[in-house]
Amino acid sequence: MKKRSAIFFLGIIAIMILIAVQMFILKGVWNQKNEMFDLRYRLLSQEAISWLSRRWSVTGFDTANYIISRYSEKIVKDEFDLVRTDTSSEGKKTIILRYVKQVLEKEQDLSEFLSSYFERQGFEKDFNHIIVINQFDLINFDERIPVYENRDLRPGRTTAESVTGMGASLNPTSRILVNRYYFEDNSYRLMFDYFIDFSDKQKMILKETAGSLLLSIMSIIAVAVLFMITYRNLMEEKRLSNLKTDFINNMTHELKTPLSTITVAGRTLEMDQIRTDEKKILETAKLIGKQSVHLNQLINMILEISMWERTQFELDRKKVKIDELMNDITGSFTAGCGNCAELHQKYNFNGAVVDLDIVYFTTLINNLLSNAVKYSEKDPVISIEGFTENDNIHVRVTDNGIGISKNDQKHIFDKFYRASSGNIHKYKGLGLGLYYVKRIADAHGGNVTVSSKPGKGSTFTVTIPVNNDKL
Ligand code: ADP
Repeated sequence: MKKRSAIFFLGIIAIMILIAVQMFILKGVWNQKNEMFDLRYRLLSQEAISWLSRRWSVTGFDTANYIISRYSEKIVKDEFDLVRTDTSSEGKKTIILRYVKQVLEKEQDLSEFLSSYFERQGFEKDFNHIIVINQFDLINFDERIPVYENRDLRPGRTTAESVTGMGASLNPTSRILVNRYYFEDNSYRLMFDYFIDFSDKQKMILKETAGSLLLSIMSIIAVAVLFMITYRNLMEEKRLSNLKTDFINNMTHELKTPLSTITVAGRTLEMDQIRTDEKKILETAKLIGKQSVHLNQLINMILEISMWERTQFELDRKKVKIDELMNDITGSFTAGCGNCAELHQKYNFNGAVVDLDIVYFTTLINNLLSNAVKYSEKDPVISIEGFTENDNIHVRVTDNGIGISKNDQKHIFDKFYRASSGNIHKYKGLGLGLYYVKRIADAHGGNVTVSSKPGKGSTFTVTIPVNNDKL
């Protein structure tokens, strides 16, 4: 049990490590795709901007630049002193900055141009733009008044008041810096960054990484499935090997009993006082004979089982009236065991005739009956019901025995399986009786099922197809 959970635990850890490695690799792929995406659109935008300046000698901010220039000229002329002495937070400087932002936002043609350029090149055309003002100064001859200055000039490092644009609230790390602009004339100096931002960027990258993602998930699933299969096989093999060990123990025990009886009987025959008593000799000889037959039966059973394993089950089918056969079998059983059980029989076969191998079918019913007797702690009461339904005959054997737990019910038809293996010698057996029952039922094209409650008793139901022949 300990070894089993250790293997399982190790397997789970290995799968977790695999998942971690896959996630790490995927993260790398994602980052790479992300960078490629940014680079592609940055190069494309710069190509568009240089085409614009070469062809039309414009930047896309020409109208804005003109308006801001006029505005600055007017401020410098009329309100330069007011700006110079401005210290309040909602003062002149804030108003000027807000106006400059508005103009840059509204009077630029770059976004529209880039969008159509992207579309023409076959790329995504829907994006948000963000304009980040880094510096705005008013200039009067050689005097300069800073209206706004962002000290951290690394692209994307912005302060809230300098940002404008539709996507202004978007995550700064997903923005793509297209260009840094610098405008200057006699009355002002303006420096700002122009960014673009694709709201669908994550989705687009996801589409590109879908292949690797799928492969990773599939490889994880494949490894997990492989592990589960290997683990189950391992456990199954272990279970079988335990069953075999139990079987050998049980078989040794079963073979030892008749053997030791024969040994003792042999020694008894050697004794002088026995040799003169003919009655005793006869009794001992009968005992030896009986035990030899038992021994022979055991060995035959084992040989037969191994033959079944190697060859196909060969049935010698004959048409039999099932109710008559059932009466024969139960009659011989009770006589054979010296009326060891109270038997209640109720047959409703409607005279059905079934194609059966009589010997095997008798073994099947006998095994069920002897188990019903064997696994009982009170006086055994067995009820046998038989009926025909849907072209099948059903034989139901119910006992008042010790019953079978839910877990054991799953395995009792397995070869060598014995319930309560901790107490194997309390009820003698080799774990083959029900295995025979199942194989015989299967060979007839039928099946066997069990329902049981520990402490209450068990019911075995055998179903075999009829063919609807009547005598
Ligand atoms: P064996 O009787 O030799 O152990 P079987 O294959 O006949 O082997 O039965 C397998 C196991 O099923 C038994 O060990 C026993 O625990 C359980 N079993 C079978 N029949 C009954 C029954 N009628 N009542 C309770 N337990 C049963």
